[in-house]
Amino acid sequence: MRVISTIKEMKSAVREVRGQGKSVGFVPTMGYLHNGHLTLMQEAKSKTDFVVVSIFVNPLQFGVGEDYEDYPRDLSRDSSLAESAGVDIIFAPTVREMYPKGYATFVEVEKLTGVLCGKSRPGHFKGVTTVVTKLFNIVEPDIAFFGQKDAQQSIVLKKMVEDLNMNLKIEIVPIVREKDGLAMSSRNSYLNSEERRAALALSQSLEMVRELIASGERNNLVLVDEIRKFISREPLARIDYVEILSVPDLEKTEFLQGSNLIALAVFIGNTRLIDNMVLEG
Ligand code: AMP
Repeated sequence: MRVISTIKEMKSAVREVRGQGKSVGFVPTMGYLHNGHLTLMQEAKSKTDFVVVSIFVNPLQFGVGEDYEDYPRDLSRDSSLAESAGVDIIFAPTVREMYPKGYATFVEVEKLTGVLCGKSRPGHFKGVTTVVTKLFNIVEPDIAFFGQKDAQQSIVLKKMVEDLNMNLKIEIVPIVREKDGLAMSSRNSYLNSEERRAALALSQSLEMVRELIASGERNNLVLVDEIRKFISREPLARIDYVEILSVPDLEKTEFLQGSNLIALAVFIGNTRLIDNMVLEG
């Protein structure tokens, strides 16, 4: 496995691979890898001939006062994990390499980014779509793999690829969870043991609402209210949002009908966690 930090070297490595007629799979990450990331890599490995993983904590997608500085970073640990997952190249550029002095171009998906995390974190998705476009241009993958954990991100990126006629496919991998249900996240490393226990409020509230739906409840106001009540019982939790929206348009709906996304963002202490569930049909 090679670790590459310059765009020039990354482009030439991938050109060589393409010259051999191999397909390229790509997994963009911010590093501090966990089993969720590794599942994406395994998926890439099973569907393409050559796997590139990027590790880049993208300053553009963090707002003022968010955790850009504190975000966990450990390239040597990540390298051994990626290598054992059979990754061929890690692309780990510096901020200066990606955004040289005078950088001025941005990519923005409208409408879909005005709700959920886009509303709570203004500018976040502009940072995501800009960096992912740059990474796609650098790596030129056949298939890029993203996680359902970031449900809105997946919808926004699919829209971007469609609208801009980008030459690749996007595959979405289901949420990978800890044994007790907590969705894996690099940010879980911020949680102390009390907070780690409290963080179960997210996945457990989704399980609770799944049962409510199975028993026949279809009114979204009632479902959202029940989730809010459930999470509010946890003293360390502070709700950012709980929403039920249509998929893939992310519009508010009164009743469960068609495909729906139930999405949550909750602060556990100072750590903002997200989780979601999609109900098909
Ligand atoms: P991140 O490093 O958090 O930006 O995540 C990189 C990629 O891994 C994104 O496509 C995420 O959606 C995906 N990912 C993160 N956590 C999980 C998880 N628990 N299950 C599945 N995919 C995940």
